[in-house]
Amino acid sequence: MIDYEAHLSGAARRYQESAIRRIGALSASIPDLVSFAAGSPAVETFPWEALQEIVAGLLARRDGAALQYGATRGYRPLIEDVVHLLARRGVDAAPDQIVITTGSQQGLDFVGRIFIDPGAPALVELPTYSGAIAAFRNLEADLVGVRQDDEGLSIEGLTEAAQALARAGRPARFVYVTPNFQNPAGLLMSRARRRELLEAARRLDLLIVEDDPYGSLYFEDAAVEADTRPLKADDADGRVVYLGSMSKTLVPGFRVAWLVAPAPVAARVELAKQAADLCSGVFDQRVVHAALASGLVDRMAPGLRAHYQAKRTVMERALGETLAGQLSWRSPRGGFFLWVRLPEGVRDTDLLDRALAAKVSFVPGSAFFVDGGGHDRARLSFSNPTPERIVEGARRLAIALAGADVRQAPKAQSREPRA
Ligand code: PMP
Repeated sequence: MIDYEAHLSGAARRYQESAIRRIGALSASIPDLVSFAAGSPAVETFPWEALQEIVAGLLARRDGAALQYGATRGYRPLIEDVVHLLARRGVDAAPDQIVITTGSQQGLDFVGRIFIDPGAPALVELPTYSGAIAAFRNLEADLVGVRQDDEGLSIEGLTEAAQALARAGRPARFVYVTPNFQNPAGLLMSRARRRELLEAARRLDLLIVEDDPYGSLYFEDAAVEADTRPLKADDADGRVVYLGSMSKTLVPGFRVAWLVAPAPVAARVELAKQAADLCSGVFDQRVVHAALASGLVDRMAPGLRAHYQAKRTVMERALGETLAGQLSWRSPRGGFFLWVRLPEGVRDTDLLDRALAAKVSFVPGSAFFVDGGGHDRARLSFSNPTPERIVEGARRLAIALAGADVRQAPKAQSREPRA
């Protein structure tokens, strides 16, 4: 018998399974489950006919380049599309600053590869995106959390954390943020806070890694759009590495995303990418280019905003009606998530056990905290289920919460009744 553990690298031995994927795997065995766990886009929004036409057209041409290996940087016309997309959001980027990646998730891995030495610190928000935690932890980062307030990342918290690390002789190289409709907190960083963050990064000599998959999924009106201006747009001294993605604005299955960074940083990312996958899916990039060039992505945008806004409202109403004040949250102005505070004394992971028994899932808040906190929170995604299923999921969550009500039952017993 080979002892495979003994053959693994120290890093591989410490790899952690993503909480979301784990819940996904668990959920697959539960028939008729309502998933508030997966942050997947709504299948009803996928543009089947338009994509069918694009794909058929690409294959009909029998152009070998469409199915051949491609440039590591990405398909040049797509890179030019990205230049235009960015310009519309105030970001002035040249093609040599852009690398197409296999999802933003790969961009996060590359960021880790080029900025993190084993054991080195990196600054993240409390809470932060669990996929970034996984990418950075797999590269053996020591993740240091910085609290949020109502306006976003606390600048005071950032300054304290960065200065303490610098004093200890191990300065952080970057801070990772998701300013637009954060995953998981749904928070939109205020305009003032964005300015302060750029200033603080300059003062503390930190790079900023800005992850922006939800920026164009704002609700309400154009006033909110103006509030989603990327930090990268005001990055006067080249401190921001920006990640954008097609996953939420077209479909996630093509795995087409981009990383924008000062040219010397982008060149390093290109080297990391050569070793990772040679190039992102060439066919996928051509499909996405055609979807952008034909105006499909622009035509979809208002419908996507309306779709997710309506689902947010359905979830808020359903929770309000069935849970009568047990859960509280700040209404998100965009994105996919409701970040709820659980009733006093209810622990996220205990509630998940009960919820799965009641055939509804969510992601425990603690999956998003690098400091062991977050057990009083849960992330509920409204993006994927239909409105009817959202209402049904809220009903089931109420059953799970009734069983978990520690104010009525002592904790030891509260695990017993399974709804
Ligand atoms: N960053 C954040 C904040 C996300 O929410 C997600 C998707 N859940 C990603 C990155 C990864 O997106 P992609 O599909 O582009 O890999």
